[in-house]
Amino acid sequence: MDYSIIIPIYNEKENIQLLHDRLHKVMTQFSSSFEFLFVNDGSKDKSLDLIKELSSQHDYIKYIDFSRNFGHQIAVTAGLDQAVGNRIVIIDADLQDPPELILDMAKKMDEGFEVVFAKRKNRKGENWFKLLTASLFYRILRAITSIDIPLNTGDFRMIDRKIVEVLKQMPEQNKFLRGQISWIGFRQNYVEYDRDERHAGETSYPLKKMMRFALDGITAFSDAPLKFVFTLGVVVFVLAFFMIIYTLYSWLFLDSTVQGWSSIMVSILFIGAVQMIGIGIIGEYLSRMGNNVKDRPLYIIRESNIDEKS
Ligand code: UDP
Ligand code: MG
Repeated sequence: MDYSIIIPIYNEKENIQLLHDRLHKVMTQFSSSFEFLFVNDGSKDKSLDLIKELSSQHDYIKYIDFSRNFGHQIAVTAGLDQAVGNRIVIIDADLQDPPELILDMAKKMDEGFEVVFAKRKNRKGENWFKLLTASLFYRILRAITSIDIPLNTGDFRMIDRKIVEVLKQMPEQNKFLRGQISWIGFRQNYVEYDRDERHAGETSYPLKKMMRFALDGITAFSDAPLKFVFTLGVVVFVLAFFMIIYTLYSWLFLDSTVQGWSSIMVSILFIGAVQMIGIGIIGEYLSRMGNNVKDRPLYIIRESNIDEKS
């Protein structure tokens, strides 16, 4: 199998037929074998029936039907687990990601890249609030992580089988696939496109889900919030030190202080600083435990000649 197209589906009944037709038109331009892998993520509409009907008409159509809604990232993960193609495409079902771009992606892959993601030049039909929060989030994420997560990209991309094999070795529960793929490395490149409006239906990413997704991204790739507590503790400690000196000074030399003020001030400042540093230390351990629990591979090998030499 040359190409696997993974399509997560949540209430997309008005889009499935058109998506299929456009995808099919694109894929028949390759002289390669392909499969469409629909992952029905607990749709409440007729999506599943439509998929089943398509699969009875064409043998390149496969589907997985979830027992309930597990979320977009999990749906894509299930697709990755089942895909058998050498190149795998992840695409939204709502036609915001134009299938025709797959041709350009394949061309880039032919040049030797292992990941080709789609970078949006602009985004139609999305309100200023989504644009603002998205751009803010990715800027923060880039600032506090060491991996290079590209701006203005979603999960629409073509990846080599090698990448999928590594993804399967990353058993983390909270998936942030675009970050994981950046983290994995290899040769990555992009093609640019204009993001279309949703063809029909409504977004299933309301603010609450977006926030959770953003938190998944930050916690999966950054210890900055944990480490921040420790830094804060040190800063508070230094401030407390000077405050304590001032308190003692005014207790000894200025007789304007109220009875009991000095002892309360000294203990509050001291204990506050000690507690914060204590939390920071726990944070350092927690971050190491977190990394062990994530159980990602320590390194990923692109190539080696060890097999030939032994
Ligand atoms: N999706 C899914 N499960 C969900 C939410 C969304 O499989 O819980 C699918 C949805 O059908 C679509 C893709 O994920 O194919 C992107 O969703 P959506 O268009 O709602 O997100 P947006 O483009 O607004 O970020
Ligand atoms: Mg969409």
